[in-house]
Amino acid sequence: MTCLNGSCLCGNVTFEANGEAKRVSACYCGMCRKQNGGGAFHGAELKGELILTKDDGLKWYASSSKARRGFCADCGSSLFWQSNIDPSYFDVSLGALDDLSELKLEAHIFVDDKAPYQTVPNNAPHFTRSDVLANPLQDQ
Ligand SMILES: [Zn+2]
Ligand SMILES: [Zn+2]
Repeated sequence: MTCLNGSCLCGNVTFEANGEAKRVSACYCGMCRKQNGGGAFHGAELKGELILTKDDGLKWYASSSKARRGFCADCGSSLFWQSNIDPSYFDVSLGALDDLSELKLEAHIFVDDKAPYQTVPNNAPHFTRSDVLANPLQDQ
């Protein structure tokens, strides 16, 4: 059981993410790039419960019929990705976490969607869009 605590930049959103840690990944898809300042979205993928201990600034954006993305409307921090099909499956942004000492990057996903200026490092396995979509739990 993993328990990750975090917040947005301004502190108007704080959370506790509890559950089974599935994977720590960096996503290079076009939606993550637009939402995250042109870079990959670095997230901890969990199966469990996302507890909002403060949600004053939280806004959800339905990025597709399959998922929504949570961010702070006060400071702009990108915070969550959550499946609509199975809301117990979600990602929390590594950038929002208080303690990064136990986290190790395990996968680069949607690598075939990366921007021309991006280089995917070889510090973790690479997975293409079709690799990811073959597993519904990792669906965008
Ligand atoms: Zn904020
Ligand atoms: Zn993505």
